[in-house]
Amino acid sequence: MEQQTLALHAGYEKEAQGTMAVPLYMTTAYDFGSADFAASSFNLQQGTDHVYTRVGNPTTAILERRFATIEGGSAALAISSGMGAIFYAVLNIAGAGDNIIVASKLYGGTITLFTQTLKRLGIEARFYDVHNPDEITPLIDEHTKGIFFETISNPSIDVPDIEAIVAIANAHGILTIVDNTVATPFLCQPLLLGVDVVVHSASKYTTGQGLAIGGLMVERNDLVAKILENPRYPFFNEPETSYHGLVFANCPASAVLFTFRARMILLRDTGAVLSPFNAWLFIQGLETMSLRMRQHSDSALKVAQFLEKHPRIQKVNYPLLSSDRSYKNASKYLTKGASGLVSFEVESFEVAKKILDGVKLFSIVANIGDSKSIINHSASTTHQQLSPQELENAGISAGLIRLSIGLEDTQDLIEDLTQALS
Ligand SMILES: *Cc1c(COP(=O)(O)O)cnc(C)c1O
Repeated sequence: MEQQTLALHAGYEKEAQGTMAVPLYMTTAYDFGSADFAASSFNLQQGTDHVYTRVGNPTTAILERRFATIEGGSAALAISSGMGAIFYAVLNIAGAGDNIIVASKLYGGTITLFTQTLKRLGIEARFYDVHNPDEITPLIDEHTKGIFFETISNPSIDVPDIEAIVAIANAHGILTIVDNTVATPFLCQPLLLGVDVVVHSASKYTTGQGLAIGGLMVERNDLVAKILENPRYPFFNEPETSYHGLVFANCPASAVLFTFRARMILLRDTGAVLSPFNAWLFIQGLETMSLRMRQHSDSALKVAQFLEKHPRIQKVNYPLLSSDRSYKNASKYLTKGASGLVSFEVESFEVAKKILDGVKLFSIVANIGDSKSIINHSASTTHQQLSPQELENAGISAGLIRLSIGLEDTQDLIEDLTQALS
């Protein structure tokens, strides 16, 4: 079945409740009914969506099943934010003394997670140039647990060669984790390209309306084959003391062991659970997500083409412009569109600020993926604390403006930019 059909139907048995809309179960806990059933639930013999909402909830479970199906994966775990999803994906495989190889161009929060917080926990980040996967192999050692990158990086808008990275990872039996927030499963399905785990900030395109913070983690079909007896992954292959010596790779849920372990260990112990209400909002958003992604992508390409011809603009970044550094990879991996992020450079900090104050339809907001268009000047906001040299290393010039193209009429957006640039 096509993704758009799955986005409306997967993961919910309508017949049981008879409601067209997915029910919202706001509840903390569940009545076990009998002492035996209660005991077997805690023994991991029963499903996980009727124990306690920290580890599972029936509404959240529908979101998880639906999102996993749309991504082409076998299971998903909902988490309270995109950052939470990234943190759990790393903690599920790595501990003190381990390292993760990460792309040089990433979301700002992800960079500080790797360079500050994970570092304090003893997990080292080793950076490679996002456009040069050849740099990965020399960074690998026996403590390397994962390779992390973004399908379309935010805010730099780079598209890596996904299959080249997967080939290197597979040659060494290392897991790949990809942040697919900007592309969404409707523009790119990394799991079908061999990526092992996908993470998302659902806070962006999933509702599309900037309504709620949330995250998701999805695992590839048959990931167990890569983990089973792989000495890099003792968490899954050695007895788990907190469950009387259970080995995740051998347990009944081993078909979805990455998700299962993250739920039963990380959610249980650190508790970054998604609210069922937010899960319900994301389910509403998924119904229209593929239609919205098509429109975001069409409009963003038209805006990029307009900006490229504008005499006051020095450079435009959009992966599907033939002049773009990511064009080759984007033409291969983003055949349905390249999402809504466009950035461009004007001559100076002052000119950039005038454009921000001149637009009427775009809002000045530090977010992306809203159906309302957003404009942002990195050097004066999100990257204000960086020195000129650090700005240059991050690829952010003083005159760089980033747009998140929303769902307004494309011509109205172009007219607004035209008047602000005049
Ligand atoms: C926003 C974002 C995140 C963080 O997600 P939150 O839901 O805000 O925690 C991670 N990665 C990318 C690419 C993002 O755009």
